[in-house]
Amino acid sequence: MSDTDFPAGVHVLRPRKVSVSKKLDGFLEKAGLANSNNNKQNDTTRPRAGSLNAFTCADCGQIEYLTREYCRCGHYLRGQLEDEYLAWEQGIHALHTELSDEVELKLKPLRKFYLLAIPFMLVPAMNVLFWSNNFALITLLWWLPAVLIAGAGLFAEDHLIRPLKESARFVDSYTFETFIEQRSSF
Ligand SMILES: [Zn+2]
Repeated sequence: MSDTDFPAGVHVLRPRKVSVSKKLDGFLEKAGLANSNNNKQNDTTRPRAGSLNAFTCADCGQIEYLTREYCRCGHYLRGQLEDEYLAWEQGIHALHTELSDEVELKLKPLRKFYLLAIPFMLVPAMNVLFWSNNFALITLLWWLPAVLIAGAGLFAEDHLIRPLKESARFVDSYTFETFIEQRSSF
C-alpha cells in the first residue's frame, strides 16, 4: 500500500492520542475525562458562569461543563482546554524569564557597589602586613564601612531576588488545578 492509498475511513478526523502535558493528563485522568465518549446531547443543564466548573465554548459561546469532552454544539472542548492550558503555561514561563532578566539587570549595578568595600578592606590588611604587627582598634574601624557596604548590598540583593524566588517556586509547583483556579478568577 502506498502513502496515498488509504482506506476511505482514515480521512475521518479524530482527536489524536498525543500527550501535551503530564499535568493536564493527570487532571483529566482524575476528572474521568480521558477516553470518555460520554457525549450525551439531551442534557439541557448548564453550569453557572464564572464557576470553577464552567467553560465557555469558543465555537458557540455557550457555557459548558469543564469536564465535558465535547460541547453540545459538537466543538471539541478538550482540545480548547489543552490550548488554553498550554498558552497559560507558556505565559508563566515567559513571565518568569522576563522577571529573571529584569532582576539580573538590577543586580549588575549592585555588584559594582560591592567594589566600594575593597579599599576599606585593603587598607587595614596592608597596615597589618607592612606597618604594624598587632591588630589595632583602627583596623577594626577601617573594616566597619566594608561590613556596612556588604550588609546593605546583601539586604538589597535579597529584596531584589525575593520576587524571583517566589516566581521560581510557582513555576516549580503549579498544577493543572492552579490553571483552573486562576482561569475562573479572571
Ligand atoms: Zn459549543
